[in-house]
Amino acid sequence: MDTHTLTIHSLSQGFREKKFSVTEITKYFFEEIQKKDKDIGAYLSLMNEEALVEAKYADGLFHENKVTSLLTGIPLAIKDNILIEGIKTTAASKILEQYTASYDATVIKKLKDEHAVFLGKTNLDEFAMGSSTENSAFHITKNPHDFTRVPGGSSGGSAAAVSAGLAVGALGSDTAGSVRQPAALCGVVGLKPTYGSVSRFGLIAMASSFDHVGPITKTVEDAAILYDAIKGHDPFDATSISEEQLSTTHPDPHYIKKLVIGIPKECFEFELEKEVKEGIERAMEKFKRLGFVLKEISLPHIKYSVPAYYIITPAEVSANLARFDGIRYGNIQNLKSVRADGHQILNLKELYEKNRGTGFGSEAKRRILLGTFVLSAGYYDAYYGKAKKIQECIAEDFDKAFDNKTENGVDVMFMPTTPTRAFKIGEKTENPVSMYLSDIFTVPMNFAGVPALSLPVERYDLKKKELPVGFQLVGKKMHERDILGLGMYYERN
Ligand code: GLN
Repeated sequence: MDTHTLTIHSLSQGFREKKFSVTEITKYFFEEIQKKDKDIGAYLSLMNEEALVEAKYADGLFHENKVTSLLTGIPLAIKDNILIEGIKTTAASKILEQYTASYDATVIKKLKDEHAVFLGKTNLDEFAMGSSTENSAFHITKNPHDFTRVPGGSSGGSAAAVSAGLAVGALGSDTAGSVRQPAALCGVVGLKPTYGSVSRFGLIAMASSFDHVGPITKTVEDAAILYDAIKGHDPFDATSISEEQLSTTHPDPHYIKKLVIGIPKECFEFELEKEVKEGIERAMEKFKRLGFVLKEISLPHIKYSVPAYYIITPAEVSANLARFDGIRYGNIQNLKSVRADGHQILNLKELYEKNRGTGFGSEAKRRILLGTFVLSAGYYDAYYGKAKKIQECIAEDFDKAFDNKTENGVDVMFMPTTPTRAFKIGEKTENPVSMYLSDIFTVPMNFAGVPALSLPVERYDLKKKELPVGFQLVGKKMHERDILGLGMYYERN
């Protein structure tokens, strides 16, 4: 069996037709992980025992013909900043090395209700800060298409697992592109939903006003299935939107064919790697050939999104990471692991210095320092206040472009996902600004809260060793059905 080609859809059909059992498939995935993950490093920890218990239960449901969900028995990978009760959850940080989650994230609860099978927790940049998964405190993850290159980040483990056939689907988190960018670099599909449509209860917060949970899958159809399962109002997340406002993910093809696609001209003013530019042009040509109307539009402020992001986010990060002191969220016996060896801690300040000094990696520290600085008295208006105004301008750019009452209003937008294909391991680690610029096309949607889907220009065969190129479809708030429907249309043609 080739696990690369398995989708939620095909696997579920196989279960139903009793071609194989969930237990057989689960064991097979663990064998594949055993064989291949030493080269890739997608997983931080595996859930062999729990997965086999769930698989057996799912087999029982199939046996009794009681299955109503496409996700029953499907092997999934979960980014290690999403809590699963009783399972170690580290956010790829040393400060959480000994933390076991005491409850399920809402998205996990929802997937458990469907009897999906969790294979394990995937690698990420520490606390989801980064674009290459090189900021993990534990190990780096390699791009399955080329082991000398990064899988992107911060959900690099989830994207690599799906791309390498080590999970059928995965969950990631996206604060500025962390679902879409690794999906693009690994040749798979990633969806950042509308802000508030998927609960973040049980997601370890990075920058709460931009954090989203989203699916990473092989096909757009699978992304729609996962999105359908995890979306919904949650009283535990204060930003969660009401059930009535949530869109359906089942669009009708006649409706899809009438969607007008906007192409923001600013995206082509940035320097794109030659192969990315060519890939993006091929995708645009395909939409034209399929009969879609493509219109040039303008998002004049998106060029300020990265600088503004790197002011607002550190401010939120510095507040969210303040709770980690090496005492809570860890096992007290293991405090030694973050304290300096053999050193007698004398007072609280010293304990904080030791624990936070050794528990956080350099990117986390950089953001805590930056965030504390931009929020400090006398600087707030100059930095944070200004950056929030830029965020408003960018959100207005999207509102205007999507305003169908005006002559130039469009229904969806088409954009590149990243300026380059997967870059070499180590290439950007010494220069944080060049790393930050990988987010140029993904940050604006987190500012505006609109949904965005990244999908590969072509199907990329791992054996051919080509580096994938991805593009994004961006929708109006709560119009996931538009971008998923259009994405499926592209994928099927
Ligand atoms: N590259 C972004 C950052 O480092 C990605 C964050 C994210 O989406 N989690 O902040």
